[in-house]
Amino acid sequence: MSNILKAKEVPPAIIVNCPFHQMGVQVCKTCGGCKHFKGVQELNPHTQYPWEQRHLVLCDYPRKLQVMRTGVPSTKKPTVANARVG
Ligand code: SF4
Repeated sequence: MSNILKAKEVPPAIIVNCPFHQMGVQVCKTCGGCKHFKGVQELNPHTQYPWEQRHLVLCDYPRKLQVMRTGVPSTKKPTVANARVG
């Protein structure tokens, strides 16, 4: 099980792009007092990697996800109107 840290355990130089404030905020100051903050998860204990590459900020503020379409062709059979000619 990975370790969950409190905001005050996060170095002051660590910031996240906050979806509520819509700007970078210091985790140790701003996230610590926020109702959406659920802790910081340590993913990797190996300290040879930078701190920011070993941790995730757990935030439940609802985010909007952009809907996109891939280049995968439609499964619909072509009709005369959209069939490729030639
Ligand atoms: S917990 Fe989430 S919403 Fe709250 S300040 Fe931090 S990043 Fe922003």
